[in-house]
Amino acid sequence: MGRTIAIANQKGGVGKTTTSVNLSASLAYLGKKVLLIDIDPQGNATSGVGVNKGDVEKCVYDVLIDDVDIKETIMETKVENLHVVPATIALAGAEIELVSTISREVRLKNALHDIQELYDYVLIDCPPSLGLLTINSLTASDAIIIPVQCEYYALEGLSQLLSTIRLVQKHLNDQLVIDGVLLTMFDARTNLGNQVIEEVKKYFQDKVYNTIIPRNIRLSEAPSHGEPIIIYDPKSRGAEVYLELAKEVIKNG
Ligand code: ADP
Ligand code: MG
Repeated sequence: MGRTIAIANQKGGVGKTTTSVNLSASLAYLGKKVLLIDIDPQGNATSGVGVNKGDVEKCVYDVLIDDVDIKETIMETKVENLHVVPATIALAGAEIELVSTISREVRLKNALHDIQELYDYVLIDCPPSLGLLTINSLTASDAIIIPVQCEYYALEGLSQLLSTIRLVQKHLNDQLVIDGVLLTMFDARTNLGNQVIEEVKKYFQDKVYNTIIPRNIRLSEAPSHGEPIIIYDPKSRGAEVYLELAKEVIKNG
């Protein structure tokens, strides 16, 4: 049965979507069958793997709110072995609509039940909040990857995320573990980046991935072409590091 991993941090702009798209594509490139679930109303992971939002008929909103079978929402991407459950702006209302719904925290988990065996990995790109969409993701997952940007105040807000993880572990999903903390957008030219790495390693110790994602212009260009980096520029440093990360994730189980 596949391993389900949520990519989460309630801070925006830390590299969640970049990691979701490129880790998914790298795992697929390494021969794994991968499903990427976009659960952020912005839908950037959806377009990042080459799906035109205008072509989306049913999205993750319909699964969460209207009990549509998740199989009906799965779409192919530009990458072989990589499928996506897309998000559209319709999802923006879900956070509020879920509040009054039965089993509101376990809707995604239940939806995944029948398809998990079809994939080696299911990755979930979470929105920048700790609301019910993120709770659904954590409840449905075996593990979480926490991207942390190598910048000032990197650790800010992480205690809130960690207490949410503990609450989910206690009440909804005692299987959930932190697979790793991923340092992103590292800039070797500044001292700050190195300080942040030290600080994060002191706090999370062996939970920090060996792979550190550098700032790489090709990684920021790829989304506007609707291509993961492995297709957009397979020889770039960005492509190399996300492949390294994929191997680390595979090694973790
Ligand atoms: P989040 O999903 O956490 O909000 P994103 O993955 O969308 O964060 O990244 C925020 C912005 O930073 C995007 O414009 C993205 O292209 C850019 N970005 C992310 N990672 C890198 C990187 N390693 N190098 C350069 N730009 C990056
Ligand atoms: Mg995002």
